[in-house]
Parts: sequence; C-alpha cells; structure tokens
Amino acid sequence: MIQDNYGRGVSYLRLSITDRCNLNCFYCRPGRDARFIPHKDVLTYEDMLYLLRAASGLDIQKVRLTGGDPFARRDILYFLHRLKSELPELDIRLTTNATLIAGKIRVLKDIGIKALNISLDSLDRDKYRRITGQDRLQNVLASIDRCLEEGIRVKINAVALKGVNDDELGDFLSMAVEKPLDVRFIEFMPIGEKTLWEKDYYWSSSELLQKAGGIMELFPAGHLNPNHGPARMFRPGHGLGRIGVISPLSEHFCATCNRLRITAEGRLRTCLFSDREYNLLPMIRSPRVGPDRLRLVLERAGRRKPMGHELLSGEKHEKSLCRRIMSSIGG
Ligand code: SAM
Repeated sequence: MIQDNYGRGVSYLRLSITDRCNLNCFYCRPGRDARFIPHKDVLTYEDMLYLLRAASGLDIQKVRLTGGDPFARRDILYFLHRLKSELPELDIRLTTNATLIAGKIRVLKDIGIKALNISLDSLDRDKYRRITGQDRLQNVLASIDRCLEEGIRVKINAVALKGVNDDELGDFLSMAVEKPLDVRFIEFMPIGEKTLWEKDYYWSSSELLQKAGGIMELFPAGHLNPNHGPARMFRPGHGLGRIGVISPLSEHFCATCNRLRITAEGRLRTCLFSDREYNLLPMIRSPRVGPDRLRLVLERAGRRKPMGHELLSGEKHEKSLCRRIMSSIGG
C-alpha cells in the first residue's frame, strides 16, 4: 500500500473521467469562460483501465468515478462493465448529478455498482433550475427513488450555500426522515481560478447543525473514519436515513485523508488544495514505460502527499485555494 510521510495509508482514488457536464452549476464552472479539455488530451477508457490495473497493484481498494459528469461520457456502461470484469475486487463508486441515469439504473446494479453519490443542492424546482441551468429536478428525484428500489445506496451531496439553500434545511431533513439515504451538506470551497466563492454564501457546518438541531432532534450516527468518508453523520429522530456535514474549511479531515485524485487528462493530484500535479498521461501512453514505473511514480508522489490544512492555514478564504475548476478535478 502507498504510505505517505505522515503515516497515512492511501487506498482510495478519485478519477475524473471527463471534465464535461450537462449541468452548469453556478458555483462549479466559471460560466461562459469554461473551456473543455481537448478530446485528444483526455484519458481514453483503455488509458484508465491501464492506470487502474497498475494502481490495484498498490492496494488501491476503492475508486470513485467523477467528472464533469461521468454519465456525460459516451459508453460509460461499457467502461464500467470492463472495469468490473478486469478488477472484480475493486470497489467502484460514482458521483453524479443523476440527470442522465434514468434507464441505466438496473444495468448499474447488474454491473455491481452498490452505491451512488448524487449531487442535489435544492428540492425546489425553480431554484434547482437557477443553480444548474436545467429543469431536471423531477427527473433526479425519480432516479433517486429508482436507485433505492434497486437496492443501490444513495448519498445526496448538497453544497451548503447561505442565501441559496439554507431555507430548505427542513425539507432536506424530511427527506432523510422519509427515505433510507444519507443527505450530506458540504461546505462551499473557493476552488478554481475565477472562483465564485463569497463570504456571504459560506454556511459553516456548525451553524448548519445548530439550525438543523432546532428543527429536529439529531442523534450522532457515524464518526470520522477514513473508510466511511469524511462526513459527520446524524440520525434525525426516528428517520430512515441520516443527515451529515462535510467540513473541509471549518474542520479539516486531513489527518485521515486516504485519497489521490486524477484529473480527466491524467494529472495526479495528491491533495485537493495543492496545485502540484504529476502528469501521468505520457507514461500511460508510452509502451516503453510499463506499469512498474507508473506504480513507482504513484508511490513516490503519494508519499509526498501534503497536509492540506497546512496549505489552507496561510490562505484567506476570499481567494481561491487552487487554480483548477472543480469540474476538471471532480470534487
Ligand atoms: N457532476 C458530478 C456531480 O454533480 O456530482 C460530479 C462532479 S462535481 C464537481 C462533484 C461535487 O463537487 C458535487 O457534489 C458538487 O456540488 C461539488 N462541488 C463543486 N464545486 C464545489 C465547491 N466550490 N465547493 C464544494 N463543493 C463543490
């Protein structure tokens, strides 16, 4: 296993399989300025399989496919099929906006996908449209229900945005009471060169939990465990589901971070907040390099994985924490 200089074991890879997305969430992409990575520079499915085969030799046990939106990439089901058959032990997860999965859910289950993270920032149709640029809320809600019927675990991720979705906390709590799923609020992070982050939008986890506790009694239901993600979870009353917070800014979880990220063009990032990248694409595409050398690079880079909060400590949150936009890192 990759072991970093702080003694953290790295067993989790987040792979952005495309920087393209059918939604245009106002906080994620800098609107019209958004430029996509040219197709020739994006990892092919063969590149990804090669990379993941190499990584599995380093005891990477879990991979999360993200983007952009993974379902915006053509033939994603074909890729999942191949990945599952070539690396059956690998725990494959996906993060999606769930607008493009209707009709694919049974197949996902048959392939062996056990859980989906679904991003959903509003339960109000008009507001959803204003945030994402698309009128797809009903479609997403229907797909969430369909996943639950098929026995696919669902974690809803909502970016906590003061003045945008703070008035919907009660509705999200009701959702976690009525449905067997997790709703997790993520603190809004200043990411990307032209970040839209503003102090006014920032809604800290502690404020959010205080407000939630005023609406419903919350019982702790989960703890910081790197294998279960960085969320602090609570059960609202006798609800079927849970509600939680992910607090990268107010309460970092760097000490338990076990992840590496790979961008859609094959650049390895060892910390979300560090712009230091290792270009793996030429290594993946050069037949002379071979998987052993690629593993060596992953191992050496992983060893130098920084403590993100040390990078954060010098920063004022008014300015961006990293240059890349979130849609090309994958969250
Ligand atoms: N398209 C997929 C989706 O919607 O889940 C995957 C990619 S998206 C970049 C991954 C996650 O990052 C989403 O949950 C999104 O809300 C979140 N995200 C994007 N920008 C963010 C920011 N500045 N702060 C916190 N979360 C952010």
